[in-house]
Amino acid sequence: METNLQIVTRKISSINPATDEVVREFECAEEQDVAAAVERARGSQRAWAALAQRERIAVLREFQRTLHERKLEIAEAITREAGKPVAEALTTEVLVVLDGARFLIDNAYRLLRDEPVPHGNMVAKLKTGYLVREPYGVVGIISPWNYPFSIPATETLAALVAGNAVILKPSELTSVVALELQSLLYAAGLPRDVFQVVVGDGATGAALVHAAIDKLVFTGSVATGKRIAAAAAERLLPVMLELGGKDPMLVLDDADVEVASSAAVWGAFMNAGQTCLSVERCYVHRRLYDKFLTACVEKTKKLRVGNGLERGTDVGPMINERQLKVVEGHVDDAEARGARVLIGGARLPALGANFFAPTVLADVTHEMRIMREETFGPVLPVDVFDSDEEAVELANDSEFGLSASIWTRDGVRGERLARRIQAGTVMVNDVISCFGISEAPHGGVKASGMGRTHGRFGVEEMVRVKYVDVDLMPRMKKVWWYGYGGNFRRQMEGFLDLQFARGFGQRLRGALRTAGIVRRKPL
Ligand code: NAD
Repeated sequence: METNLQIVTRKISSINPATDEVVREFECAEEQDVAAAVERARGSQRAWAALAQRERIAVLREFQRTLHERKLEIAEAITREAGKPVAEALTTEVLVVLDGARFLIDNAYRLLRDEPVPHGNMVAKLKTGYLVREPYGVVGIISPWNYPFSIPATETLAALVAGNAVILKPSELTSVVALELQSLLYAAGLPRDVFQVVVGDGATGAALVHAAIDKLVFTGSVATGKRIAAAAAERLLPVMLELGGKDPMLVLDDADVEVASSAAVWGAFMNAGQTCLSVERCYVHRRLYDKFLTACVEKTKKLRVGNGLERGTDVGPMINERQLKVVEGHVDDAEARGARVLIGGARLPALGANFFAPTVLADVTHEMRIMREETFGPVLPVDVFDSDEEAVELANDSEFGLSASIWTRDGVRGERLARRIQAGTVMVNDVISCFGISEAPHGGVKASGMGRTHGRFGVEEMVRVKYVDVDLMPRMKKVWWYGYGGNFRRQMEGFLDLQFARGFGQRLRGALRTAGIVRRKPL
C-alpha cells in the first residue's frame, strides 16, 4: 500500500533584527531528540557529580578564562541576534557571566559543603545532624531572547557547579548565542553530554517539560510560565519561574532630578526597553513632574538609534514585528485615553523594519494598558503623585512584582519605603544593575514568578537538601517508643513543662515528674 506520509520538520530562523538578514536556520529538535538528549545527560551526570568540587570549579575557571578571551566575539554574536549595542552586550551579558562565574568559583565550595544542624530540643541533643546538598540530576533550562547569553549562562553555571547535567532550550530567536555558550563550555573541558542545547520553538520547550528531567528553570513570559507550571504540576516536577515585570520607578520630592531623569531614560530604553527589569512605569512627585519630563525629553533627543554593531549606537532595534505591535498597541491606547506623547511614539522605518523611537509619555493613568501590561519596548510613561503613601499604592497596584526603584536624597526614607514595595528587588537610587550583582538574588513575587537565580539562593535552587541524622546512643531504645504504660503520659506532661512552662516553679515540678522517664523500658 502506498502512503503519502511526509515527515515535516519545523524550521526556525535566527534573524538579525537590525537588518532582517537571516543569520542561520535550524531544524527544531523533536520530542524524541529531546528525550535522547535527556537520556545522554542522565548517563553522564553521575560521573560529573562524583568529581571533587574543585574539579568542577576548575571547569568554570577555564570557561571564565576562555570567555574573557573571546569577549568581543561573543558580544558581537549577541548583537547580531538580539540587536542590542555591543557595549550593552559587554556590560549586561558578558560581564554578568564573567562575574557570575567568579562568584561560583569563590563560593561554590562553601555553599555546597555539608552543613551541621545544631539541635535545640533537649531530646534531640542525643543526636547529631547535618545537611547534604545533592544535585537534582538533569536540569532543564528554557530561556528567552532578550538576554540570550547572561540568563541561560548564569543558570547553567550554578546547575553545573552543583553537579547537575543541563539541557538548554534557548529561545527560537537566539539559538546561535546558545551554541556559543555550548562551545565555551566544551572548550573548558566540560564532558559533552553534561551540557546540551536543544534548539527549537515552543513545542521543543514543551517536549523538554515532559521529558525525564528532574527540575525545570524557566525564564520568559507569564503566559508561557503558567502553561509550564500547569504541565509540571501533573508530574510534580519542581519548577522555578522567572517571568515578566512592570517595574515602577518612584521619584520622591527630594530626588536629584538630573540624576533620576538620566536613570529613567537609561532604565526605560536600554536594550530597546526589552529588559525584564526595565523601568516600565515612572511616578514623579508633582513638585518635580514638569522639570523631570523636560529633562527626560532633552536626554531622549540625544540618543542615537541604530544598528547595535555600529560604534556610538545607544538604542538598537526591537526584536521583531510581533513585539513592535505590542508597543504600538500600548502607545495608541494611551494616546486614545488622553496621554501626551512628548517625544517618539512611532516606528523609525528609515532605519529598518524593527526600530521604534524612544518615547516619553505624560499624563498617563492606571486605566491605560501602558501602566498595567508589560510593554517591553522603549517607552517611558510618566505619572504624577502627591505623597509617599500614594506612590507606594501606585507601585503596588500591579499584578507584577519583579523589581522597583526609589529615588531620593534621603537614604533612610528610601529604605523605609523599599520595605513596603511588593517586589523581589527594590533599588534605592539605581535601576536594573542589581542583575549584575552576582551575590544578589534575582526573582519576583506575584505574577513575576517564583524562586531565585544568582547568588546563594540561585545555588540552593539547583540542589535537593537532604538531612542526615546520626544517633549518638545507638544501643539505647528511645524513651518515646512503645510500652507507654500508665506513667508515660504524666512524664511527658512534666517534660513539656520542664522545657516550655513560663514559671520557674512549674518547670521544677515538671523536672521532678519527668525524672522517672530514664528508667522507662520501651518494648
Ligand atoms: P516566551 O514565554 O515567549 O518564551 C520563553 C521561552 O519559552 C522560549 O524559549 C520559548 O520557545 C519557550 N516556550 C514557548 N512556549 C512554550 C511551551 N508551551 N512550553 C515550553 N516552552 C515554551 O518569552 P520571550 O518572549 O522569549 O521572553 C520575554 C519575556 O521573558 C518577557 O515577559 C520578560 O519579562 C520575560 N523575562 C523575565 C526575566 C526574569 O528574570 N524574570 C528575564 C528575562 C525575560
